[in-house]
Amino acid sequence: MYLYNSATHKKEEFKTHTPGHVEMYTCGPTVYHFAHIGNLRSYIMEDVLEKYLRYAGYSVNRVMNITDVGHLTSDADEGEDKMLKGAKREHKTVMEIAQFYTDAFFEDCRKLNIKRPDVVQPATGLIDDFIKIVKHLEDTGFAYFAGGNVYFDTSKLSHYYVFNDHDEEDLAVGVREGVEEDTNKRNKNDFVLWFTKSKFEDQALKWDSPWGVGYPGWHIECSGISLKYNGEYLDLHCGGIDNAFPHHTNEIAQSESYLGHPWCQQWFHVHHLNTSDGKMSKSKGEFLTVSLLEEKGYDPLAYRYFCLQSHYRKALVFTWENLDNAAGAYLKLQKKIAALDPNNGTVDPAVFDEYKAKFLQTMGNDLNTSMGVTAIFDVLKAKTNDATKLALIGDFDQVLSLSLLEKAAAFRDTKPAQVIAQHNGVYIVTGEGDPAIDALVLQRYEAKKAKNFAEADRIRDELKAQGIEIIDTKGGASWKRV
Ligand code: AMP
Ligand code: ZN
Repeated sequence: MYLYNSATHKKEEFKTHTPGHVEMYTCGPTVYHFAHIGNLRSYIMEDVLEKYLRYAGYSVNRVMNITDVGHLTSDADEGEDKMLKGAKREHKTVMEIAQFYTDAFFEDCRKLNIKRPDVVQPATGLIDDFIKIVKHLEDTGFAYFAGGNVYFDTSKLSHYYVFNDHDEEDLAVGVREGVEEDTNKRNKNDFVLWFTKSKFEDQALKWDSPWGVGYPGWHIECSGISLKYNGEYLDLHCGGIDNAFPHHTNEIAQSESYLGHPWCQQWFHVHHLNTSDGKMSKSKGEFLTVSLLEEKGYDPLAYRYFCLQSHYRKALVFTWENLDNAAGAYLKLQKKIAALDPNNGTVDPAVFDEYKAKFLQTMGNDLNTSMGVTAIFDVLKAKTNDATKLALIGDFDQVLSLSLLEKAAAFRDTKPAQVIAQHNGVYIVTGEGDPAIDALVLQRYEAKKAKNFAEADRIRDELKAQGIEIIDTKGGASWKRV
């Protein structure tokens, strides 16, 4: 596989420390609110990468943190604590907030066919490990104690900026205009490893430490969690592009100083999903979540399809119109697959191998997912029987995870009914061919989508009284006379 490496600024042949095995780490969510669909773009692309590696024959150990402590509203150790802010907003404890939004995150992942990593570790569960690393960094002169906090001393490194060739001044987040400089810091890029004193309101959760009662900085958690579960040699580290600096830069600084040898060779960064007026945010404009997509009648997998259509190293602009186009294309694809007859022929191994090899190569070229989707259309056009086509589509879908065979089967099962309405990737079909009843079934479906359950139930009862039963299908509804 060839993958772009942000650390070398080149597309390189993917190599691992242990042949055939990948130790993979992904920065997880900060669980103070729902994930927005921009965050989820990163997780979708990382999911495809992991699944591709497994498909290509690697064993993978994938680790993810849950940030439930230490992340301030600015990445430069400034501002309020994000978790505390979430707890105040909802009048709950920090741990309640963390649990609620961790569950919500994995529920979104489930809807988007994002696999759960092998190891998921909340930061609050590994405080002793972080203290051990910070202590070692202090003992070996890479960290210093000042004004109640422990800081990493970036002047001890010969090479600090790993990911970009930007001017140092541009990256000096500690001295951005309008941000008060932390006078405890010896160098502008030094960052906090352990807080016992913040000039902002204190974090709610605290632990005893050699420096007094306090809490860890944000960056140390990813180093600590990865060192524990991935070991000393990490093959692949993933995250959104905004994490490259300062978060990943600081992870490298502290991990390599702690270990005394190079740590992670390959860095994978997903570029942002933006709205037409700029960066997506949880506070500005419409808060775009998976639930909102569902409320508006979209199949969450239509959003996955939308993401797969563009390359992870390009910024992607989200508009409802762009999503509609993707949802329409996804639905068309499902219908094309549904038209294939599983009993037509038997799998032709030569054709199967030829197309599989092409798919492996296409996706192995820096995870070209849009060409990966195109490969399915190529299979549909191939001169072979339907059984071979369906086998290939099922095979590719192990990586793309668009539930293509399941969706197509749902279409097939409802034959010969007609699709009477398309709703952004979901569909309603007729039952036994009565337009008046179709219309009521559709009305009920829309009421349900709008969370108007009383109206939905009323229509169901009305139909029941006429001897009609509604059958909810995956992503739609049908009916029959009973
Ligand atoms: P957070 O929950 O803020 O810690 O972010 C979770 C992940 O989402 C990180 O990998 C971020 O880099 C990534 N991320 C944040 N905003 C966006 C965006 N607009 N598009 C894509 N990824 C993002
Ligand atoms: Zn991280």
